[in-house]
Amino acid sequence: MEIKLFNTMSKSIEIFKPLEEGKVSMYTCGPTVYHFAHIGNLRTYVSQDVMKRMFIANGYDVKHIMNFTDVGHLTSDGDTGEDKMEKGSRREGKSVWEIAKYYTDVFLSDIKKLNILPATKYTPATQYIQEQIDLVKRLEDLGYTYKIEGDGIYYDTSKFADYWKLGGQKLDDLKAGARIDFADGKRNIADFALWKFSPKDVKRQMEWDSPWGVGFPGWHIECSAMSLKEIGDRMDIHSGGVDHIKVHHSNEIAQVEPVIGHKWVNYWVHMEFLNDLTGKMSKSKGDFLTLSKLEDLGYPAIVYRYFLLMASYRKQITFSYELLDGAKNSYENLVKKVNVISKEADRNFNKSVVENWKTKILETLNNDINTAGAIVILQELLKSNETASTKAELIKFFDEILGLNLIENAKALEKSNFSDIPEEITKMAQERLEAKKNKNYALADELRTKISDAGYIIEDKPDRFNIKAK
Ligand code: AMP
Ligand code: ZN
Repeated sequence: MEIKLFNTMSKSIEIFKPLEEGKVSMYTCGPTVYHFAHIGNLRTYVSQDVMKRMFIANGYDVKHIMNFTDVGHLTSDGDTGEDKMEKGSRREGKSVWEIAKYYTDVFLSDIKKLNILPATKYTPATQYIQEQIDLVKRLEDLGYTYKIEGDGIYYDTSKFADYWKLGGQKLDDLKAGARIDFADGKRNIADFALWKFSPKDVKRQMEWDSPWGVGFPGWHIECSAMSLKEIGDRMDIHSGGVDHIKVHHSNEIAQVEPVIGHKWVNYWVHMEFLNDLTGKMSKSKGDFLTLSKLEDLGYPAIVYRYFLLMASYRKQITFSYELLDGAKNSYENLVKKVNVISKEADRNFNKSVVENWKTKILETLNNDINTAGAIVILQELLKSNETASTKAELIKFFDEILGLNLIENAKALEKSNFSDIPEEITKMAQERLEAKKNKNYALADELRTKISDAGYIIEDKPDRFNIKAK
């Protein structure tokens, strides 16, 4: 069946044609592991996950590589400022390696909670230093680089005529706006660091020898070097948040295409932002929303996933608790309906009816990852006159493509069993659920602490809770 995707390069919806029949190669830019991912970052990974599930549901074998940026991402896009990893290390009084390990683990646990399928391989940048040095060397040999004394090796964007093809910016507009910090010695406004020298007076925790002196790779070279190594010199899809279009991904193309001598990526797929009410959500603002904060407020991770899938990945979302509450109610209703259906269903579903629905679902989803449209069909199915068994079989399919864990959560509705829990604890837990519904989070927190002090743990589930002795 046909799959359509919006390609940032052509700025149009295109029919997907794989490089190799039945296979998709995909590289997605991963997190900078110096801090928690905020719920905006996580939106990008959820969007990429349904894209991947869409290909799998269409019978493709997907090879997916995701990097962890654990070195070289500076606090400014203009190649100045501190390495974010060193910043995290100072903030927490731990080594950069400990910081990278800790935030990588939290990230992996967050994406698991969001039911994001694991990548085929995760590639931390510090494990590919030689590949990055080799690529810079190739660019140097081809005449694309220059050195800024005491600073680093830079890419000369004036040498690559196609530099602006992805972002579509006009050089004159950029010069007029000149928003990018212009490091001393840069020849052109868009030039960027390939290799940075370690400062003379400061000992960096992460640094390596190179043909140009001790230092560390620039942020952009890692994705190019790692995807060339892991995927090869052609790939189907390269994806990231929309902020990557004009700088990071434009730089990546400039680093790769002169070396390989042909087109590198067939589809550039960019995921829109989740903003907060004050505008862009960003880690540098300090107080940003994480998945665990949402969970503490009584919103299970899967509800956040459902909230995201109700919109197109190409539309911005402005986050609000009202919208999230709406998603929570809607998700809980779905789970209750699935619970009733699962009890009535047996294995005797009508095969051709199921196949017809599946075709309709995929035709919708395949139209540029239309998750909102797929959810509408799910609602239609639940309201329809189909038998419980047919519905149950199709809900399984929905779980595969949308990853909403409907069946598992519907089963969990059955399991709440408070028989060995003292009555006063159950009562407090019920009061807490009420308090959360009324958004009295202070009271809810107080009750959670009391319950915990008495030796019990509350696990929040959609619309209910479990209590366990510690
Ligand atoms: P970072 O950890 O900052 O390197 O970002 C990880 C991913 O999140 C990248 O693909 C970014 O493009 C994406 N991203 C950053 N901010 C947001 C946001 N507010 N909403 C959605 N995606 C974002
Ligand atoms: Zn990248």
